[in-house]
Amino acid sequence: MRKLLLCIMALFIGANMAEAKPKVAILATGGTIAGSTDSKLATTGYTAGVLGVEVLIQAVPELKNLADITGEQIANVDSSNMTDEIWLKLAKRCNELLSKVDGIVITHGTDTMEETAYFLNLVLKSDKAVVLVGAMRPATAISADGPKNLYNAVALAANPNAKGKGVMVAMNDKILGARDVQKTHTLNVNAFDFGNLGYIVDGKVFFNSTNLKAHTKKTDFDISKLKTLPKVDILYTYSNDGSGVAAKALFENGTKGLVIAGSGAGSIHTAQKEVLKDLLKKGLKVAVSSRVKSGFVAVGDEDKKIGFISAQDLNPQKARVLLMLALTKTNDTKKIAEWFLKY
Ligand code: ASP
Repeated sequence: MRKLLLCIMALFIGANMAEAKPKVAILATGGTIAGSTDSKLATTGYTAGVLGVEVLIQAVPELKNLADITGEQIANVDSSNMTDEIWLKLAKRCNELLSKVDGIVITHGTDTMEETAYFLNLVLKSDKAVVLVGAMRPATAISADGPKNLYNAVALAANPNAKGKGVMVAMNDKILGARDVQKTHTLNVNAFDFGNLGYIVDGKVFFNSTNLKAHTKKTDFDISKLKTLPKVDILYTYSNDGSGVAAKALFENGTKGLVIAGSGAGSIHTAQKEVLKDLLKKGLKVAVSSRVKSGFVAVGDEDKKIGFISAQDLNPQKARVLLMLALTKTNDTKKIAEWFLKY
């Protein structure tokens, strides 16, 4: 009799365990994945950030097989209009939710997805999976890529092996790490590259690589009490870039840090550089990145001495994120330069 009772109990527990699905929260911020237009053929000229999170979830009933899903609308914007305010709201909500769920999926426009991903990678305080996902074609288009991307993102966020990998992007069956991922095509479905961590095939997750830079729980940054972020802007250098008017105007209007999209390995037109040297003396922080798609930036010893910081291999928009966060903690140029190596 006792044996029979134990068997029944074991069966009952087993059945319950088999049913226990991971909990995944989907936080929606807008973008083309929530985009809509009248023409099924249109992949440009549509309005991004229209459909609500529930519509996105209902469009993929198969999500239920992967996880217990909840949805929340954080914002509904074209990500070219992303703001610090939305970033802070999103990061704070993620940090709250990460103690309650197994993973988070963030639907996001693709234009600035790499910036949001890197920001979260530096400020979230959990090992659990956080995955950004978007679409290159609006939800109304023939062969819209959003539903499959969303399915993949949830599969990834629900996968136990995704723990500790830092914030990730799931686009076009690829898993890409937040630090290095870049949008590399304006319209193709295969629009993201760099930071390849693995693949998602038919809902199965395969990791083949890892990100060695510090992230999430191992960073120096804490946004929990912040209401704003320091103003950091980006300036390009180019032939005949001589006046420095923009740098001066930005500084006079409250910009605390500038990222220069230098030419080659971080060169800056001399005339522009002279203006920057002057602004460095007045307290501006300057990180030098490159307008070239990949590679390290070399800042010479003389330039280092006067305050120029190498953004290493971070592109200008990612360097901006790090400089901004660094400035929430310190004004020490040496410390900031160290963090560019660390993150
Ligand atoms: N402009 C859109 C956005 O970033 C593009 C997209 O989502 O693909 O919101």
